[in-house]
Amino acid sequence: MTTGTLKQLVDEFMAPVIARNAGEVEFHQAVMEVAESLLPYIEENPKYKHAKILQRLSEPERVIMFRVPWLDDKGEVQINRGFRIEMNSAIGPYKGGLRFHPTVNLGILKFLAFEQVLKNSLTTLPMGGGKGGSDFDPKGKSDNEVMKFCQSFMNELFRHIGPNTDVPAGDIGVGGREVGFMFGQYKRLKNEFTGVFTGKGREWGGSLIRLEATGYGTTYFAEEMLKTRGDSLQGKIVTISGSGNVAQYATEKVTQFGGKVVTLSDSSGFIYDPAGIDPGKLAWVMDLKNIRRGRISEYTDKFGGEYHEGLRPWAIKCDVAMPCATQNEVNKEEAMTLLKNGCFVVSEGANMPSVPEAIETYINSGILYGPGKAANAGGVATSGLEMTQNSMRLSWSREEVDAKLHQIMKNIHETCVRFGKEDSGFINYVNGANVGGFVKVADAMLAQGLV
Ligand code: NDP
Repeated sequence: MTTGTLKQLVDEFMAPVIARNAGEVEFHQAVMEVAESLLPYIEENPKYKHAKILQRLSEPERVIMFRVPWLDDKGEVQINRGFRIEMNSAIGPYKGGLRFHPTVNLGILKFLAFEQVLKNSLTTLPMGGGKGGSDFDPKGKSDNEVMKFCQSFMNELFRHIGPNTDVPAGDIGVGGREVGFMFGQYKRLKNEFTGVFTGKGREWGGSLIRLEATGYGTTYFAEEMLKTRGDSLQGKIVTISGSGNVAQYATEKVTQFGGKVVTLSDSSGFIYDPAGIDPGKLAWVMDLKNIRRGRISEYTDKFGGEYHEGLRPWAIKCDVAMPCATQNEVNKEEAMTLLKNGCFVVSEGANMPSVPEAIETYINSGILYGPGKAANAGGVATSGLEMTQNSMRLSWSREEVDAKLHQIMKNIHETCVRFGKEDSGFINYVNGANVGGFVKVADAMLAQGLV
């Protein structure tokens, strides 16, 4: 297919998507990236075209929006907005995290839910796709306020979720504390102890390794990509953005593989430690972020290095870059700077962290680029393993879960190679992940009729 024909097909496909979802720019971006990969494949497989599978995939099965009123510590009424996007249930119950962040809106959650459908399919586990959250900002709130908010949020959400219907988990701003408060309220409202959430605490149905899974998985994916060139993470300089759940465990696993992580960031800026963030320093960061809830700038007071206010870490020279903070955090110029400085692997822990022009830059240069929906699928895969353990009422060991996670990441990598390897030998992981994730969902939708 020529570039001109593809562009025309994409434009025709996107026009109604953009019109129907006006202003939801992140959603347009996510759908367009997938359409560019899938439309040539769909042209070759007309059964998907006639059934309008891609058009149906880009329309949520259900969108729930609700008011979340709560009382702050001063006794003042606060009002936030809650959402749950139930995107696609063709291959299993809706599954995907909840995000609490002031930037949350319908378009961002629809982009995340759309990506989640293909990602969950890639794991090979029976999970549909969903996403949800609120514009509530847990930063600066007391534990009491976070609990009040979570309970009010669940007072509405509980009627829409269930272990066989929709199973949320954490995402930005939703960690063990928030999942605990929401699970507690669900249990109280339903009088049921079920696997309705993943990312639960160890003592109450959580899986070992779930906390580590996304960061570990993104690292396993980077290692698999490197293997295709007879290389490994050993001795590599790695830049990581974010300092939350995904960034922390990516740092841990990269270090175990012999790489040196030299940056971390938060929404205020980034730190650069040329000596490397070793396990002792990482333990301090985990305490700072997960317990004391401080800012990453404090790192340099403790360990030296440099702090760059208001900047992202992509101008630091590295072999491997792992964006693990948020969407659209690598722009075209930053992608070009990464390449100029010798970076040849990008493995995405965050969802859609690279803008389309950055992705184009990676692909045109032929580097190893693992898009989020493949590279960060280890989190939801381990959530799937948590659901299995909950259903079976048993608990696998750390080693068992980690081995399964590792194998799933290898399988996802193989799927990307199978569907993304070009005649030249170059592996286009974007096409590989999109087509590989699509086929199973599309076939299930065909089999289930017009639903
Ligand atoms: P956390 O809330 O634990 O950490 C998020 C990190 O990113 C924090 O350091 C935060 O800084 C930073 N960040 C958030 N928003 C922005 C922003 N607008 N600009 C700059 N930095 C920002 O979230 P997670 O680690 O769980 O999630 C990180 C990414 O990984 C997200 O894209 C998420 O969707 C994705 N992901 C997470 C999975 C999981 O299992 N947790 C699974 C798959 C993907 P600050 O503290 O200043 O806000």
